Amino acid sequence: HVRVRFAPSPTGPLHIGGVRTALFNYLFAKKHNGTFILRIEDTDQNRYVEGAEQYIIDALNWCHIPYDEGPGKNEKFAPYRQSERKHLYKDYAEQLVASGNAYYAFDTAESLEHHRKDHESKGKTFIYNWHNRKLLLNSISLSAEETQKKLDTGEDFVIRFKSPKDQTLHLTDMVRGDISIDTNILDDKVLFKSDGMPTYHLANIVDDHLMDITHVIRGEEWLPSLALHYQLYDAFGWDRPQFAHLPLLLKPTGKGKLSKRDGDKLGFPVFPLEWKDPQTSDVSRGYKEDGYFNDALVNFLAFLGWNPGTEQELFSMDELIEAFELERVHKSGARFDPDKIKWFNHQYMQMQHNDELAEAFKNSQPQLETIDVNYIALVIAMIKERAIFISDFWDLSSFFFEVPKSYDEKAFAKIMNDETRELMNELAQIISHSSDFTVDNIQSDVKTWIDTKGIGFGKVMQPLRLALVGAMQGPDVFEIIFMIGKAETVQRIDNLVQ
Ligand code: GLU
Repeated sequence: HVRVRFAPSPTGPLHIGGVRTALFNYLFAKKHNGTFILRIEDTDQNRYVEGAEQYIIDALNWCHIPYDEGPGKNEKFAPYRQSERKHLYKDYAEQLVASGNAYYAFDTAESLEHHRKDHESKGKTFIYNWHNRKLLLNSISLSAEETQKKLDTGEDFVIRFKSPKDQTLHLTDMVRGDISIDTNILDDKVLFKSDGMPTYHLANIVDDHLMDITHVIRGEEWLPSLALHYQLYDAFGWDRPQFAHLPLLLKPTGKGKLSKRDGDKLGFPVFPLEWKDPQTSDVSRGYKEDGYFNDALVNFLAFLGWNPGTEQELFSMDELIEAFELERVHKSGARFDPDKIKWFNHQYMQMQHNDELAEAFKNSQPQLETIDVNYIALVIAMIKERAIFISDFWDLSSFFFEVPKSYDEKAFAKIMNDETRELMNELAQIISHSSDFTVDNIQSDVKTWIDTKGIGFGKVMQPLRLALVGAMQGPDVFEIIFMIGKAETVQRIDNLVQ
């Protein structure tokens, strides 16, 4: 049974890259009738941010990536917050000390800094592993009594993993294939600290084991930790899950990693939902508030580092689940293209029901308060082809609801003269006398009249459009006339020639 987890740290709002990781986990789980778990990795209390956990849950729900198991839901393996599992980890760290895979160390930050500088000055890099263990203050360089004494007097300590000398580790990643690592380049990572908290590495492995995780799917930034994680599973004697590291998200230029700060700099959101920083009260934009459809965002994210191997670009969630394969995830970074998500939004706009769009449009626009929602839906059918966001609707359609407030100046200057005024007065007569007011009839009445006059079509249609819309673009003029009605049309023509 496939069990995967999304394991964010609540250090701020969930970045769009985090949503992509959650999505790929979700797709993989659903494809294999598995379970998608949310685990909150909040062991680093210094970086904890108020409201971040709720934000993560809200964001996943908005994106239709709900977890099957996690805080407050099917709590079979509870608790799902590492801060509430704090009591668990010490025993595991001690187990590794007892088996000779880890050791106590008492080095102060100053002493480590000193060694680092000292090495640097000799052109070397300081690695805390077998190269240097004996120089440092730990249970390998100290006698058992000295070590115990330090522990008894309550001296600050850490427990470090004892990385072996001269070994080659063979790692397997479902995306990257086989990777060999020389253990001599690995340092003895800290697993546990005397404040009673595990580090990410220990807590992550212990919890993945206890929660029966079968596949670890996460961002590429965790690939350097894979060697340690392999060794931890081996040291505990546990079966390993399979690993898949997802490619980095790159800036729109394709150069460098997309960062949380890029959104403000480059003018597009990097968060699914708006986020108000509890400390500074700064607000960061979100895709939801910017008017994106959640399904469009998901469809876009699915293509960041994956493709189905066909030309198809539009996928519902069910189709994504069906098509998704970890084997098709790319190794190289995925360029984040904010124009592409607009393209998706435009596509999803066309798929929305007009009556639902009408409801949303009506609620967003005070001028529409008294307008019949069915009329609004008809208008939307005519304009949505040119809209990316619901917030584009008003500019594309205000003339269906109210008299143009002004006329395009250039067009007005070019078109308006005595001849045009005369023609428009005549046209107003034609329209007010036309019976059986349908789009086809209005069109044929007007066209017949133009033909008998022997003038160019544009001589009439341009000022007519200007009168109705106030500008030279918009949907078909006869459709507009039909929608706003005879009296209103005549009134607008009068307004123009006055
Ligand atoms: N807490 C880690 C993060 O914030 C989890 C990494 C992992 O999935 O192992 O991304």
